[in-house]
Amino acid sequence: MKKCIIIGGGAAGMYAAVFAAAGGLDVSLWEKNEKLGKKLFITGKGRCNLTNNCETEALFQNVMTNSKFLYSAFYQHNSQDVMKFFESEGLWLKTERGNRVFPESDKSSDVIRTLERKLKQSGVKVDLNRKAEKLIVEDGICTGVVDSKGNVEKADFVIMASGGCSYPSTGASEDGYRMAETVGHSIVAPRPSLVPMETVEDWCRELMGLSLRNVSVVLKKGKKKLYEDFGEMLFTHFGVSGPLILSGSAHCGKLKDFQDVVLTIDLKPALSAEQLDDRILRIFDGNKNKQFRNTLGGLLPNKLIPVIVRLSEIDPYKQVNLISREERLRLGYLLKHLDIHIRGFRGFNEAIITGGGIKVKEVNPKTMESKILKNLYFAGEILDVDALTGGFNLQIAWSTAWLAAKNILEVMEDEL
Ligand SMILES: Cc1cc2nc3c(=O)[nH]c(=O)nc-3n(C[C@H](O)[C@H](O)[C@H](O)COP(=O)(O)OP(=O)(O)OC[C@H]3O[C@@H](n4cnc5c(N)ncnc54)[C@H](O)[C@@H]3O)c2cc1C
Repeated sequence: MKKCIIIGGGAAGMYAAVFAAAGGLDVSLWEKNEKLGKKLFITGKGRCNLTNNCETEALFQNVMTNSKFLYSAFYQHNSQDVMKFFESEGLWLKTERGNRVFPESDKSSDVIRTLERKLKQSGVKVDLNRKAEKLIVEDGICTGVVDSKGNVEKADFVIMASGGCSYPSTGASEDGYRMAETVGHSIVAPRPSLVPMETVEDWCRELMGLSLRNVSVVLKKGKKKLYEDFGEMLFTHFGVSGPLILSGSAHCGKLKDFQDVVLTIDLKPALSAEQLDDRILRIFDGNKNKQFRNTLGGLLPNKLIPVIVRLSEIDPYKQVNLISREERLRLGYLLKHLDIHIRGFRGFNEAIITGGGIKVKEVNPKTMESKILKNLYFAGEILDVDALTGGFNLQIAWSTAWLAAKNILEVMEDEL
């Protein structure tokens, strides 16, 4: 019986192990943690958004880096295949807003349990607390793995599914990159992605906890537009976060530095500048004798009012009937162009995914096999691919894992 070692008991490693073992391979799954799927457990805020119930074309549109590399993986094993697999294993799924798919139970632990049960049924040998240290290479072929205790284990095939480096508390580290580099692979420098941003302006910190719904944002470096979208964002003790900001970070993969990177928030995207001015006029007309600082309640969340009053440079104690047209227009402009300078991204501790990783030019996209070392395969976040939120990153893990397992089984059959 041919043997396969899979490094990493996360989403990609478990999925690859299930399919490889079901096809007749003797599979050993090495996980350095004391249990499988630590990261999977925290996905989707503990609910696990395991894929996106969309057309295959839409999967590509949501991949930010190297989407073409995933052509075979997505076309041969798409989100419908993933859903079919889990439902056939008794995990009932539901589709929510934005086609996001979750277990009906809302429990990521049920996804892990389903995979664990299948691993057991398929006879996969799960090696917990076993850390891979080095790949064994003989005559340009990968022939096994050495663990951190120096134990040598030979194998006909090795799949590296050791993930990226975000959320180190789940076991994520640069282990996989270093092992692959040692056998000749190039690594695209890892960077945090789907990550909150730190801001220069102190007033952002004053707004900590404030969530803005239905705003639109534009992220620019100098004059170059990097990202534009509509939705929800959040102020934090260091700057900004929330869905719009995380997605914005994923569009900045090629950014070299943060000089002149500005986030502009339109607080009233449903109103044109003229409509907003009319609205402000009406508010001022209805509050003629009130001080400016006491008139914005119907327009803005309470927490934001002192900040906007300050940034507008209008005297907060001025009676609104004394506010000039110029001042009023300045206020309207501010509400549609609230600029925030970005200092940088937060680190891997807070990044949902890692951008960068194994250079995909050195991996066969039809098989996931290394072009540098025969019988070595890659799957999941270790590769230089990353996607937006919505279940797309896990779909990458499932699809690439399935493709690696399928190809290994085909190679095995050819050799028989
Ligand atoms: C907070 C958070 C929420 C997320 N939510 C979602 C979501 O809802 N939907 C979605 O699509 N994506 C989500 N993601 C992203 C998703 O979790 C990853 O894309 C996915 O887990 C990648 O799978 P993987 O198997 O490649 O890596 P991982 O799941 O990270 O698994 C890699 C495994 O390899 C092990 N390992 C590492 N080095 C070694 C070694 N040397 N020897 C042995 N084992 C090793 C690690 O301990 C780890 O268990 C989220 C990520 C985070 C951090």
